[in-house]
Amino acid sequence: MLVALDEKNELIYAHSLKEVTKITSHYYCPNCKDSVFLKKGSLKVAHFSHFNQTNCSSFSEGETREHLEGKQLLYEWFTKQGLVCQLEAYLPDLNQRPDVLVWINRTDAVAIEFQCSSLPLKRMIERTIGYKSKGYDVFWIVGKQFKLDDKISAFQRLFIYSNDKIKSSFFFLDVIKKTLYSYSNIQQQNATQKIVYDKCLVKLDKFTLVDVPVLIKKLSAKKRGKESDILAKSNELMQSHHYLNQGRMYQTPELILFQKYIYCRGDSLISLPKEVYLKVTNQMMIKTLPHFWKYILLKWLSKKTIDSVITLKQLDEQINEMIDNREIIFYEMPLISLKEQKKPLYSYIRLLIKVAILEEKNSEQWILKRKPYYYKNEQEKLTSFSKELSLLK
Ligand SMILES: [Zn+2]
Repeated sequence: MLVALDEKNELIYAHSLKEVTKITSHYYCPNCKDSVFLKKGSLKVAHFSHFNQTNCSSFSEGETREHLEGKQLLYEWFTKQGLVCQLEAYLPDLNQRPDVLVWINRTDAVAIEFQCSSLPLKRMIERTIGYKSKGYDVFWIVGKQFKLDDKISAFQRLFIYSNDKIKSSFFFLDVIKKTLYSYSNIQQQNATQKIVYDKCLVKLDKFTLVDVPVLIKKLSAKKRGKESDILAKSNELMQSHHYLNQGRMYQTPELILFQKYIYCRGDSLISLPKEVYLKVTNQMMIKTLPHFWKYILLKWLSKKTIDSVITLKQLDEQINEMIDNREIIFYEMPLISLKEQKKPLYSYIRLLIKVAILEEKNSEQWILKRKPYYYKNEQEKLTSFSKELSLLK
């Protein structure tokens, strides 16, 4: 596995760790919560491994070098294209962890599976149907064992895509050459059973000219119906969660500041309540990470007792205090008044009424009806994201 939990219950990417931290820190499997340790050698890419013999359902031991490297390569490649992307992300409605999860936009995610070993035909079909039924597209890429030659096996045939936009295509990743091959227009000759195809390649270690979103969109020919609206909402929350947790975000000063702030208060990126992810309009006038100021407002509310009344005056005072403490910073926008810039904070309060944290008494008073819930682990959190979203409609 390439991602583990640390002692603070944060997701940690193996490749982001320095050798020094190896000795001093403890890591845990995000799936079974058993202790795992960092392996960083010359043979395989940095990864985590269980200490003990394990029946862990998500991460079997002896993950091959090819599989680990392939996941890492694909993750880095998609990330370089500016896509929100997560390694081994947990999908609660499927109880699965695709190798890489890539978001093409706010609501559509594609699960990338890098298949290096054989798996029962039935299992591959079940997994594909599972993803599709929950609104995810799945993009299978095979490893060297299944590279196409001049014949095609029943197993390889499982991995052929075809729809209106893309004709009989198959993908193979060569991790040693860091190259993704696509075979298209695969055709079988009648007499010899031999296959012919067009082949093209993408070097994953160079910045590529391939438009990946287009490539992935071509693979997904599905149309969304109304029933997927709730799904889209839940995906939006999940995307926001994964965005905060993806490896490259760990380096940004805003996020480091935010993480320090929440640690001091006993929280982590995983424990953050779902209300932290609610989106308000015009929040682009605010320089502070949106999760940050929402977190502070929620903490402020959490300190009050249930059924107590919160007045507009108290809210104004709280907001002014946040401004004074630089817990919320607005962009310099000379054409916009401070009153206007503060509006998203009031919109947020209205959102909290929608999700039943507050109840409106009158236009200047609210009653605290429920406190935000701080999650214990990622499974619990993402499961709740995928469930109670009808509230947000
Ligand atoms: Zn485990």
